[in-house]
This record gives sequence, structure tokens and C-alpha cells, in this order.
Amino acid sequence: MQTPTPVLDLFFPRRCPVCDRPVKPYGALICRECEQVPVPVGDSVCCKCGKPVDPEEEYCADCMTHRHRYYRGAAVFRYRTVSGSLYRFKYDGRREYADFFGLEMARAAERFFAQTGPGHRPDLLIPVPCSKKRLRERGYNQAAILARQVSRKTGIPVAEDLLIRAKDTLVMRTLSASERQNNLKKGFLVYGNGVRLKSIMLIDDIYTTGATIDACAGALLEAGAKEVSFLTFAIGENGL
Ligand SMILES: [Zn+2]
Ligand SMILES: [Zn+2]
Repeated sequence: MQTPTPVLDLFFPRRCPVCDRPVKPYGALICRECEQVPVPVGDSVCCKCGKPVDPEEEYCADCMTHRHRYYRGAAVFRYRTVSGSLYRFKYDGRREYADFFGLEMARAAERFFAQTGPGHRPDLLIPVPCSKKRLRERGYNQAAILARQVSRKTGIPVAEDLLIRAKDTLVMRTLSASERQNNLKKGFLVYGNGVRLKSIMLIDDIYTTGATIDACAGALLEAGAKEVSFLTFAIGENGL
């Protein structure tokens, strides 16, 4: 017997993250014919940031010359193959893509945990916060939506209010001038003691130079986090 189509779906059929048309077949998260479009990072990735590298290379050019604050990171797809999809997810209100993004990210997370070993499984997922201004414009933080999806599938809890953009917060009013200056420079602030001795995985939609992830990791480590890793849906290749 066929499951009846929920009424809402008749008016707002789920759209495919690749072609943006109603998904075929009904009930899938991506069209069968679109499945091959997003190209996974593959097996040969940088041991630090997870960018695709040539098989004989251990680290990407960036990680060979630059010291990152985080422990390690992983991503699912090569950015150029999912850029249109990510754009619509962030700016065109296509929140429904998060079901596909989140499922793929959760799978990538489990592969990553298998590689890094049980000692590195995170205690907490933390989305990279977006500014209040962007939140107002868009109505949602895409990283938080992804973090909720990954949490649902991996069972690792998500904390959305521990890491904040320094400029946005009212907490800033309670700090001294020098503390405030310091926080503004770093861009991110950890609220309370929730990350102490915890292993954290940052969640974002894309990793390019690593500047944002490093800034978040720095703030978390200074607030007492034991270790910070990251997981993103897309990752740039070298030179991007
Ligand atoms: Zn499609
Ligand atoms: Zn790297």
C-alpha cells in the first residue's frame, strides 16, 4: 500500500538540493539523477583540515605552512560541486536541503570518528554563530540547522548558545574596556563554563581558509575546551 502524500507536500513538495525541482522519486532527499553531481572529498585528504590532496601528500599546502588551532577537521563535498546548492540554502531560504546535508554530514562524522578513535569522539557539537544582523536578514543560522541534524543522527548533543559573536553580545557590556577590546579582536566569545574539559566539534557549512574555525577554536580552547575539531558540508580545494 502506498503511503498517502501529506497535504503540505502537495503545496510545498520537497526540492532537490541539486536541481531545485521537486525531488524524484517522491520521498527521497535528492533526485536519483542528481546524486552524482556533488563530488565527495574522496579518500585522499589532508590529515589536518580534510581538503582533497594528491594521494602521495599527507598535508595540503596551507596546513604545511600554517599552524591551525583546531585538532583536525572533515568535510563531505568539494565546494565547487555544491556551491549553487549552498547558496540557495543560505540565501534563498531552502532550509529543507538540511535533511540531505545533515544526513551526509552525519555519515562523514562517523567515518571521521572511526579514523580518529574513541578518545576523540566529541562531547558536544557547536555551530559557528552568525551575526545578529545576518540572523535578522535570513531568519536562521545555517550552521545551527546543520548542527541539529548531525546531532539527531549521531546522538551527540548540540549547544547553540555557548559560542557567540563578540560584537553581538550584551555580555560585552559587563566587561572591562580591555576585555572588550580583546574579545572584539578575536571575534568570538564563550559564554559560561559549558565547554570546560569538553571535546567540541564545530559545525559550519563551508571551510575555506580556516580563519573562522581557528578563531572559534581559539576562543573555545581559551575557555578550557579539551579539544576542538570541525565538520563542514563543503570544503574548498587548494587555492580556493
Ligand atoms: Zn534533482
Ligand atoms: Zn590542510
